[in-house]
Order: sequence, then structure tokens, then C-alpha cells
Amino acid sequence: MKAIRMVQVGQPLEMHELPIPEPGAQEALVLVKAAGICHSDAHYRAGRSRVEPLPLTLGHEVAGVVAQVGEAVSGFQVGERVCIHYMLTCGHCEYCDRGQEQFCRRGKMIGKYANGGYAEYIVVPARSLFHLPDEIPFEQGAVLMCSSATALHALRKARLAAGESVAVFGAGGLGASAIQLAHASGAGLVLAVDIRPEKLELARRLGAIPVDAAAGDPVAEIRRLTGGRGVDVAVELIGLPLTMDQAFRSLAIQGRVAIAGLSELTFEIAPYRDLLNREAEIIGVSDHLAQEIPQLLEWTRYRVLDLSEIVTETVPLEAAAINAVLDALESFGGSGIRTVITP
Ligand SMILES: [Zn+2]
Ligand SMILES: [Zn+2]
Repeated sequence: MKAIRMVQVGQPLEMHELPIPEPGAQEALVLVKAAGICHSDAHYRAGRSRVEPLPLTLGHEVAGVVAQVGEAVSGFQVGERVCIHYMLTCGHCEYCDRGQEQFCRRGKMIGKYANGGYAEYIVVPARSLFHLPDEIPFEQGAVLMCSSATALHALRKARLAAGESVAVFGAGGLGASAIQLAHASGAGLVLAVDIRPEKLELARRLGAIPVDAAAGDPVAEIRRLTGGRGVDVAVELIGLPLTMDQAFRSLAIQGRVAIAGLSELTFEIAPYRDLLNREAEIIGVSDHLAQEIPQLLEWTRYRVLDLSEIVTETVPLEAAAINAVLDALESFGGSGIRTVITP
């Protein structure tokens, strides 16, 4: 089979011809129908985040069709449509037991520590599979397993309650999901902060009030739009100290900011004015939980979460095309919002 693999840090991915993997007793072989190209993959290729052992097939946003199952697998049959939970967990360490499985001691993310979906086939434990309803196209099924799942986890970590106000910093792929999921969770007011006109326009179409950070201080604009209060929840999806600072300073009394954007840099806070005085909370967001996926699939099936505008481009399973998408992501964002490989 064809697989697009990372061979060396900082180098373009390469097409390799590999044998089709054999599923073990508890595993399933999935024929890949769609694999999302994520901003994280650009970080991996550049060496900003560890990938091992090399060479390794990237791709952690995967949907397809069951092609073969191990003899101990029940609940999945050949031909069924599935999407894959990318975090492979043991299911019985102290973190898995507590429902904190992203921190599983033996946890392995596909496309980072195990071969991923930039390939014609992938083998995963059957417990990582979720049935993908017929109403959801494969491309959307792939993308929702990363960006939508992270957006939902961020809103859950921030304990968004019905009637509360939300500011989403970053109206790209994650942001478009966060806006819709905030509405689905009963948010009273959803604001979306970005600097790119097309992303602000998308946010508006999805029902958010756009806040153009290129036109002025977004914190002041958020305060103006909330009658001076600030927002109950801010979600930072960009990964810049500037936007983390803005998200934090836009909070209301007892507001919570959930940070899901990745950065190695630090940002400063004024503890008395902005943290203690408001009983504000800063919350880190790491991946998501398998238990959050059924809710996402239901919301997508009934188009409460509509990803049709998120997947804007598809490319074939070819190294040059995939490297070009990663190059575009490196220069921050690229043209489309999400590109999906359709082998
Ligand atoms: Zn991803
Ligand atoms: Zn575990």
C-alpha cells in the first residue's frame, strides 16, 4: 500500500510502498477514505513536536471503512463506516481509570507515535473505532475527530453553562467548531475574534458576532459588546501570547479562559487586577476524551455542528500535494480552512 511518511525531521514527507498491515486479535484494519491534514502535522514535520519512531506515517484525523477485524473483535464488521479516536490508550492505568485517558501512561497518538492515516490502510485497536453515521461524509468524520473534539473539550473544561457569553479567539477550523458547539451548549452570546476578513465572515455565517482584532483592541470591543462585563468563557485557539493575554483580559467576574492553542512562549498576567480581583480561572486543554465523541457525532449528524464549510479542499494521497499543504500551514493558516486527503 501507499503511505506518506515522515522520514527525517525538517524534511518533506516521502511516499513509501509498505505491506498492508495485519490486524491483531483485538484490532481492525481500516481502509482510509479521508485523513485530515492538521496544523499539528506541520509542527511534527518541522520538529517542533516529537514524532517517533521514524520513519512514521503521519495523520491522526482518520475516517474510513472496516476492511478486516481480528478474531476477538465484536461490535464492528467488515464494510462498516468508522472514524478513529486518535489517542490509543491502555484502558486500565490510573489515568484511564479516572477518565483522564489523555494522560494514559501507555497512551500513544496515531500519526505521532504509531502509524497514522496518510496511507491506504491503517490498523488500530477496535476500541478506538466509532461508527460513523451515513449522514456524515468521510471528510467531515475525519476532521471532527481532532479540531471539533478539541473545541468541545475546551468548552467542557471551561464549564460553559447555558445563557453564558463566550469569546472564541481564532475563527479557523477549531474556531468554526467552537462557535457552533457553544451555540449547541446553550451559550447566550458568542463572539469570534480574528484578523482575517474571510474567517470573520465565516464566523458571522455561523452565528457569532465577529470582532476584528485588526481594527482595534478586541478586549475593549468585547467589553463594549457585553455592556462592560466581559465574557464568562474565553477559548484561545491560536497559540500566541498576545491572544492568550487578550482572552484572559476579556473575562467577566468569575470568568474562565480555556487555552487550547499551542505555544512555547510565556504570557504575563496581572494577578491582583485580572485574576484574584475577578476570581478568574486559566484552564489548560489537552486533546479530548473518547466519551465526548458520541455527542459530536450526533450533533454533526443532525447538522447542529455543520462542518461543510470547514473542509474546503481535498488532495490525493501524494507526497508533493501533502507537503504543499503543510508548507501553506507553516506560513500560518494557508488559504483554505481544512484540507483532507482522500486516497
Ligand atoms: Zn489534528
Ligand atoms: Zn491508560
